[in-house]
Amino acid sequence: MKSEQKFIQEFDAVVVGAGFSGLYMLHRLRDAGYSVRVFEAADNVGGTWYWNRYPGARCDVESIYYNYTFSEEILNDWNWSSRYAEQPEILSYINFVADKLDLRKDIQFQTRITAAHYDEKAHNWKLQAGKSIIIAKYFIPAIGCLSASNIPNFKGLETFKGEMYHTGRWPHEKVNFSGKRVGVIGTGSSGIQAIPVIAKEAGHLTIFQRTPQYSAPARNHAYDQDVLIQTRENYKEIRQQMYTSMHGVPQTPREISALQDTPEERERVYEEAWNQGGLFTLLYSYSDIGFIPEANETVADFIRTKISSTVKDPEVAQRLMPNYFFGTKRPIIDTDYFETYNRENVKLVDVRATSIQEITPNGLRTSDAEYELDMIVFATGFDAMTGPLFKIDIRGKDGLGLKEKWGGGANLKTYLGLSTAGFPNMFMLTGPQSPSVLSNMMVSIEQHIDWVTDCINYLETNNLQEFEAMPEAEEAWSEQCRATAAMTLLPHADSWYMGANIDGKPRGFLAFAGGVGVYRQICDLVAASEYEGFSKV
Ligand code: FAD
Repeated sequence: MKSEQKFIQEFDAVVVGAGFSGLYMLHRLRDAGYSVRVFEAADNVGGTWYWNRYPGARCDVESIYYNYTFSEEILNDWNWSSRYAEQPEILSYINFVADKLDLRKDIQFQTRITAAHYDEKAHNWKLQAGKSIIIAKYFIPAIGCLSASNIPNFKGLETFKGEMYHTGRWPHEKVNFSGKRVGVIGTGSSGIQAIPVIAKEAGHLTIFQRTPQYSAPARNHAYDQDVLIQTRENYKEIRQQMYTSMHGVPQTPREISALQDTPEERERVYEEAWNQGGLFTLLYSYSDIGFIPEANETVADFIRTKISSTVKDPEVAQRLMPNYFFGTKRPIIDTDYFETYNRENVKLVDVRATSIQEITPNGLRTSDAEYELDMIVFATGFDAMTGPLFKIDIRGKDGLGLKEKWGGGANLKTYLGLSTAGFPNMFMLTGPQSPSVLSNMMVSIEQHIDWVTDCINYLETNNLQEFEAMPEAEEAWSEQCRATAAMTLLPHADSWYMGANIDGKPRGFLAFAGGVGVYRQICDLVAASEYEGFSKV
C-alpha cells in the first residue's frame, strides 16, 4: 500500500460496489447504526445495470421476482412494465431505490478500491481508494459475480481502426449501427440478446460463434395490471416460495422423470414449456433433466428440432446445433434469436471450425477468410466470480494474498461462499461457492446481506474483534460444493461456471449447486449455532 497517503477515513464497515448488493448492504448496516461507506468505480449506482447498456439488454428472471423483496413499500411503489424489463427500466428502479432510501450520501463514486490489507494488530482492514486510505473493521466486497469484463487477448486487437465495444462496458451514448458492417464475437446470454436487435439496424452483421447455444423464446410481453395486483396481494407467499426453492423463483420442477413419459407426451410437455417461455420452464419440465444424461438428451433433442425448423438454411442450422448437456451453461431466453439467421444481412461464422487468427486494421481474419468490419462487438462475457475479487490486491493474515491462497482459483476454499480462512471480518456477498449465479440473484443477495447484518450485530453485541472461517469448516464446505455439483451434469460443460471461458483459468465448479432453499437452511443453522465453523476472538 502506498506510503505517501494523505487522507485517512475510518468506518465500521466498508462496502465495495453500488449494485443491488452494495445498496442493500449499506441500507441494512446504516439502519443498524453502523458507520458505512460504499466505494464504487462507476459514477452512479446500478452495477450490472449501469455497465451493460447494450441493445437488447434485459433481465431473464421475471421482473416481478427480479427485485428487492425486503420492503413492502418499495414493492408497492414500483410497477414493472413487462415480463422481462429492459436495462434502462432496471437502472431506473435501482436509482429509485437509492433515492428513496437516501443512499447516495454514503457512496463515493468514481473510486476504485485497488487494495485491501488486513491489519492483524489493529484487527481492521486498510483499503486503498485512490489517494486515500480507508480503515474499517469490516470489509465487504459487493463487487458482483459478473463485473470483470473479459476481452480475449486477440492478436492485433489494438490495430483495429473501427469502433470496438464490450457488451459489459457499453457507452452511455447511443451506438449507431446503421449501414455498418458489424461483427459480434460471442453467443452467450448477452450476444443472444444483442444480435437480433443489432441485425435489424446494421448494414451487415457477422456473428463469430464458438459455442452453439440452447436458447428458448422469452415470450416477453407487457404486464397486465391484474398480474401486478395479484403479485402484490400474494407477495408474502411468493417470497416464501422463492426463498425455499432451487433457483430463487416461485416455481418447482415437475416431480416426474423425463424417461417415464412416452415420446408423444414429452413432446407435448416441452411444446407447452416452449410456448410459455421463461428461464427455467424447460428445465423444470422433468425432475431429472439436470441429472440424467438420457433425460437431458430428450430436451436437448427437442430444442435442436426447433432450431432446424426455424433456421431456413440447413447448413446454418447445423452450425447452430448445441451438443453439451442442456442447462449446464446459464439457460438463455431470447427474442427472435434463431429467426435472425434467416435475414439476408446476417452471416454465421463457426470459429471452432475456422478459428480467429487476429484482429486486423480493417476487421478480423479467421483461419480461412478475412472479414472487413466497421465495428466489433465483444459479447465475450466475464471473468466470473473470482475475477472481480482477484482484481483487488486482497491480503489477509501474514500478508497472504487471496489469489495466492486460492492458487488463482485451482484451490478455491470458502466457508459458505461468505468467508475464507485467514481473511477475518471479510464477507463476500454472493461469493464463489454460494448459489449466486445459479439463482435469481435478488434472492441470494438479500439472503447474504441479512445473514451478514445479523452476524455483525452478533459480533458487536459480544464485543468480538475477529471473525474468521476455520480451515476445517472451509475444507468441508468446499468438498460439499464439489460433491453437490458432481451429482448434477453441471461440471460436464465448458461453461463460465467452470471457469472455462477464460484462457488459463483453472477449471472447477464455482458455485454451490444445492439450491437457494437448502443453502438458506444451512446458513440459518450456522447462525443459530452461534456461528459454528467460525473462530471468534
Ligand atoms: P454488480 O451489479 O456487478 O455490481 C458490482 C459493482 O461493484 C459494480 O458497479 C462495479 O463497478 C463495482 N466494483 C467492482 N469492483 C470494484 C472495485 N474494486 N472498486 C470499486 N467498485 C468496484 N441476475 C439475475 O438474477 N437475473 C437476471 O435476469 C440477470 N440478468 C443479467 C444480465 C446481464 C447482462 C448481466 C451481466 C448479469 C445479469 N444478472 C442477472 C446477474 C447480475 O449481475 C445480478 O443479478 C446483480 O445485478 C448483481 O448485483 P451486485 O450488486 O451483486 O453486483
